Amino acid sequence: MSDMSFHIGPIRPPSEADSLLLQITNGCTWNKCKFCGLYKHTRFRTYSADDIKKDIDNMRALADIAEKYRRGSDWDIDGLNIELAGMNGEERQCFAMVANWLINGTGSVFLQDGNSLILRDGRLSEVLRYLKAKFPDVTRITSYGRAENLSKMTAEDFAELKDAGLDRIHSGFESGSDEVLKLVGKGTTSEQQIAAGRAVKAGGIELSVYFMPGLGGKALSEENAKGMARVVNAVKPDFLRIRTCAVKPGTELYRDMEEGRFILAGDDDKVRELKILVSLCEGGGKIVSDHIINLLPYVEGHMENDKSRMLAIIDEYLAMPEDMRKLYQLGRRLCHIGSPGQMGLLPPQTTARLNKICEETPAEEWDMMINSIIARYI
Ligand code: SF4
Repeated sequence: MSDMSFHIGPIRPPSEADSLLLQITNGCTWNKCKFCGLYKHTRFRTYSADDIKKDIDNMRALADIAEKYRRGSDWDIDGLNIELAGMNGEERQCFAMVANWLINGTGSVFLQDGNSLILRDGRLSEVLRYLKAKFPDVTRITSYGRAENLSKMTAEDFAELKDAGLDRIHSGFESGSDEVLKLVGKGTTSEQQIAAGRAVKAGGIELSVYFMPGLGGKALSEENAKGMARVVNAVKPDFLRIRTCAVKPGTELYRDMEEGRFILAGDDDKVRELKILVSLCEGGGKIVSDHIINLLPYVEGHMENDKSRMLAIIDEYLAMPEDMRKLYQLGRRLCHIGSPGQMGLLPPQTTARLNKICEETPAEEWDMMINSIIARYI
């Protein structure tokens, strides 16, 4: 690594697209979820506080270079590009991230990778305080955290992290059904999720949890949604983010599917799960649909105040005849439209092309075909 570059991990939530990424661990402590192949070839490791502080120093140095090109509320983009051209490959990527972060002005930082909350020896607080000292204008710091690890922490632990600067934890609950969690090797229980979620919130940190419609396959479709609603109502997270399940080639779940142990839930099953979830969830949080993989992206809003609007979108989809639902699924998955109400906006040639695919795809291959499209998005 050259002098001013810093570590960058592979993922962050879509809501952190404009955040500065600070990697404090590498990989995932669990690495056994059957649907996830992200860190399969990465051995988990944590970075020392000194290593992380060095990365923060490098971010600061790159930010200071970029700041020379700030012109009031504007930027000298040509000047930034000349700086960029003079850097080596790794530095260039890091400088581009820091400069874009400053230009976007979000002030948010995301701690990578899969489970940064594993740092329990005071290192995380130390790093958070150092980051705040070097970047006093940071507005929000967030991190992923696994429910199993979070459940071993107390509200006081989270209050200490909040005091050090941590604002929000993203946790991939994926399902609240113990049967589904076991089926996919998630390594957590709904009891742990509830304990974890309540402690995070009691410590004053915002909680964002994730739900995957379809994760229980056809067999556990209803159970998947009901379990998630039960956990959400017990925890009352600030955000419930929808991540439709896509079974990706190369994962253990894909092998289960090929060998008949896991039967794919279709898009209609997943929408019915969404309907159960929206119908049953209570509390002050927000349902968020911030991923291209979701079939009905406008199903988002406040769990109580927007319930009827969200259910109306779902019912509009479910009320369509089967051929129209298939046309919509394909149109949405190929990024032509974003809601059933936009079907009429499809150009005639596009409609004809999509209809041809619908007609030529055997019914028994339909769900697999849709899965192969959405699996490319993850
Ligand atoms: S905990 Fe998250 S990162 Fe780790 S294996 Fe499971 S889904 Fe992947």
